[in-house]
Amino acid sequence: MSDWFTIDQIDKDTYIISEYRHWEETHCYLLNGSERSLLIDTGLGISNIYDEVIKLTDKPVTAVATHVHWDHIGGHKYFPDFYAHKDELNWLNGEFPLTIEQIREMVIDRCDLPEGYDVNTYDFFQGTPIKLLSDHDTIDLGNRSVSVLHTPGHSPGHMCFFEKERGYLFTGDLVYKDTLFAYYPSTDPEAYLLSLKKIAKLPVKNVFPAHHTLDIGPEILIRMRDAFEQLKAEGKLHHGSGIFKYGDWGIWL
Ligand SMILES: [Zn+2]
Ligand SMILES: [Zn+2]
Repeated sequence: MSDWFTIDQIDKDTYIISEYRHWEETHCYLLNGSERSLLIDTGLGISNIYDEVIKLTDKPVTAVATHVHWDHIGGHKYFPDFYAHKDELNWLNGEFPLTIEQIREMVIDRCDLPEGYDVNTYDFFQGTPIKLLSDHDTIDLGNRSVSVLHTPGHSPGHMCFFEKERGYLFTGDLVYKDTLFAYYPSTDPEAYLLSLKKIAKLPVKNVFPAHHTLDIGPEILIRMRDAFEQLKAEGKLHHGSGIFKYGDWGIWL
């Protein structure tokens, strides 16, 4: 389905593969190195992302998800060479806390599906990563390298990826404009704050989120960290305290 994905180019060897026909407006990122390519997140899994990726690289591709939620691992089935964080291994092995029916509801929710698409064929990816990632690991692509940052909060094994040389921070679901989610049982609002503190210290030039607008600058990292600090100071940084709006973003606790 060639009109499913939107491709944008960040620089001569970095691409954004977006899915704007679902309300979540998911973004995956392809980083081409001299030896291999890294695909950060594989999208919704409604259309075949592999066919797009091979148009953009002739190198072997390793996939890595910022976290094991359905909308970030949908295309993992095309990439047997994938890495994951140990804290979400059980979600790749039968223990994800939602049913396939609940996931299929989210797949079709506010989505302009491809013609003839049968949601009953949609599965939640299960598999075994070829490598487990830990905080401060480095992924070497040849002439470029990416640091792994364990950033729990939205999910237990959530990772951000930082390419220091270019100042690129790929933030997954930890940071994007719109309402952030830290209200379901597998989220951890206190850990979320610690993760924001961690990434707010980095020399970031560009923030690349997994959802919604790409018009987002590194100053938002500081604003989010400060807002979470404030919620903590007010005793509100816990599940069930509500939805808090801050103009161009919000947090649902
Ligand atoms: Zn998520
Ligand atoms: Zn997401």
